[in-house]
Amino acid sequence: MIMTTIFPGRYVQGGGALKSLSEEVARFGAKALAIVDAAVMTVVTPALRNTAQVSFVVERFGGECCDAEIERLVACARAEACLVVVGIGGGKSADTAKAVAHALDLPVVVAPTLASTDAPCSALAVVYTVEGAFDRYLMLPRNPDVVLVDTALIAAAPVRFLVSGMGDALSTWFEAEDCRIKQAPNMTGRLGSMTAYGLARLCYDTLLAYGPAAKQAVEQGVVTPALEHIVEANTLLSGLGFESGGLSGAHAIHNGLTVLAETHHCWHGEKVAIGTQALLALTDRPPAVIAEVYDFCEAVGLPITLGQIGLGHVTDAQLLAVATAACAAGETIHNVPFEVSPERVVAALKAADAEGRGRLARHAPARPLAAE
Ligand SMILES: [Zn+2]
Repeated sequence: MIMTTIFPGRYVQGGGALKSLSEEVARFGAKALAIVDAAVMTVVTPALRNTAQVSFVVERFGGECCDAEIERLVACARAEACLVVVGIGGGKSADTAKAVAHALDLPVVVAPTLASTDAPCSALAVVYTVEGAFDRYLMLPRNPDVVLVDTALIAAAPVRFLVSGMGDALSTWFEAEDCRIKQAPNMTGRLGSMTAYGLARLCYDTLLAYGPAAKQAVEQGVVTPALEHIVEANTLLSGLGFESGGLSGAHAIHNGLTVLAETHHCWHGEKVAIGTQALLALTDRPPAVIAEVYDFCEAVGLPITLGQIGLGHVTDAQLLAVATAACAAGETIHNVPFEVSPERVVAALKAADAEGRGRLARHAPARPLAAE
């Protein structure tokens, strides 16, 4: 089997990096459609000032990477004769920008203002229904031409985004390892390389080493070396690791969880963290590794129980619906080097939840004994 590894064309990261956006965009064309998340419209406006080299057509992102929004923005870029597409904001705006650029065969620059997913670097867009349920993966012929991350914006965002990104990045090593063992294909349909598996491992090691310190930095609104390391892990290492290493059960279980409306208020990485914990149970990982993952999740504030993602009263029928969706034909859970079935996934979800609930109970303040 042939191995394939894919990369974005250029990765730019640092405090104030957005100041070089127009310079990066101008390398591809003089007119750009900028798809901007409403939440960051004000702060990124200075970076979208028209220069002699490039002018920007600014469009507010509708909020969901769905077919209707992609079609709306394609029409807009066509009408304005844009030569480059720029996506500025969270993971969904990045995916939308990639899908729009693909439809028009234009270069794309992705400027994530959050480190909440590993979407920015990939040649992949996750398309959802208008209601927010997983619809399909849109595989693109190439990775973004530029990924530009301004860590000052990430430090200024609510910390839950960074933590959620760590949840997404947490799955990367385990899913890549599953694919390596099973010789399952990565996102290109080919075998992963030792480069990809090595970067996936670096992603995991970086999370364990710097995750809590990076969280503290964002809580203080400051950029530190630890934050730079975690932003790189969440965005670049996790992106390269999942795409060229491959996905297995954590993301499939995440996709399964999206069928329950109760989880829609939770973010991608938070559900991926739950998917990762279930994957560890499903694949019989060593207890020491499982403990390390739960310790990490507790240290940075990722969910460790179903109750923490809105499923405190989940029924067996609902869990079976999640597991059945996770095990659908073509889902990446079939890259797991173990036999999988919806029943086994339900068992793993329950086991992982029990471990998390046990930990919460042990950490809860002791209740005073009732008077005899
Ligand atoms: Zn992900």
